[in-house]
Amino acid sequence: MTDVPPTDSPWTPDRVAYRQLLAGQPAYRLDQLWQGLYSHDKPPEDQTNLPKALKASLAERLAPALELAAEQLSDDGQTIKWLWNLPDQARIETVLMHYPDRSTVCVSSQAGCAMGCGFCATGQAGYDRNLTVGEILEQVVAARRATGERRLANVVFMGMGEPLANYDRLIESLHRIVADFGIGARHVAVSTVGLVPQMLRFAEEGLQVGLALSLHAANDDLRTELVPINRHHPIDELVAACQLFRERTGRRVSLEWAMIDGVNDRPSDAAELAAVARAAAAHVNLIPLNPTPGWPTVGSPPDRIESFVVELRRRGVNVTVRANRGTDIDAACGQLAAARSPGGPTSVTISTGAGAPDVTDQPRPDRPGENRAD
Ligand code: SAH
Ligand code: SF4
Repeated sequence: MTDVPPTDSPWTPDRVAYRQLLAGQPAYRLDQLWQGLYSHDKPPEDQTNLPKALKASLAERLAPALELAAEQLSDDGQTIKWLWNLPDQARIETVLMHYPDRSTVCVSSQAGCAMGCGFCATGQAGYDRNLTVGEILEQVVAARRATGERRLANVVFMGMGEPLANYDRLIESLHRIVADFGIGARHVAVSTVGLVPQMLRFAEEGLQVGLALSLHAANDDLRTELVPINRHHPIDELVAACQLFRERTGRRVSLEWAMIDGVNDRPSDAAELAAVARAAAAHVNLIPLNPTPGWPTVGSPPDRIESFVVELRRRGVNVTVRANRGTDIDAACGQLAAARSPGGPTSVTISTGAGAPDVTDQPRPDRPGENRAD
């Protein structure tokens, strides 16, 4: 399979490409069209100020890529999961989380994932293909439309796929999210499994976007078991990459740690993690492991998480605990696993993971237990 679907999304071309598509049109058309796409969240066909003939000629080349296959709401109605069909029948999922004062969208960067982390439903389902810029941005467009009055304030690349494995499209998408959708870079975060060469490049991009590293184990033997790519990018290289990110951007990396019962939640694990966090000048975000179909081990019980937090704090580590948002609809971290539509496996789903990523990682006193400070 190639990375290019049969039609291109209207959100894929950049301004240079659109200038060519608009050859013969008055110069103001480009700004008009761009504003329609990025300020009004409308594809050209729905932009009433464009001439009919132009819309028809653009429609021959461009069509929205995301077709809604299913929508699920959590019991409290505050978490929404969308399953999308893509033009080549690949499928992805997007999760939108509402908070009292803002909303966060968790976007996918690939259909599936090639990294094979055993505890993650996306990894269990395997890799399909990279998403295009338009397929990434249309997820943000859908979230902006659905938030209405409530502002879409945060975008996190914590859905399906490894964002840094789709590097160029990720970077282009980030620039458009910040410059064109107007979402502040500090309200955008990318999570990586730890692809060191791309982390080093990412540090030099001049973006103020947050970076999360899915660490899960702080010694190479255990991490290689949990996260196979660790064989190629061991922990000392990850620490160096985090240090560089901090130096270049002034921002600390957030180390993600899914708490797995009896596997990485012992006092000795906390001691190892504290040493890595200090060396990496990073803070730590604990995620109770969410259940997935292909992984037998369960998440750590709350009292073990509590002791782990205490142990990390005692060692001077800045730590938060992430809430499990969306587990009732398999929308939490690591639970996204959309099967391909007809032709491929028919079932839709979906296992677990880490729940609502809060890009600000601030303690939220309005929601006890979520990202709690202690
Ligand atoms: N591929 C990237 C982006 C996906 S983000 C990455 O791995 O970082 C998904 C986050 O949920 C990652 O931190 C991942 O490690 C975590 N995760 C995966 N499976 C999980 C599970 N079953 N429970 C809790 N967190 C999980
Ligand atoms: Fe891929 Fe991230 Fe899941 Fe690992 S945790 S399989 S890198 S999506």
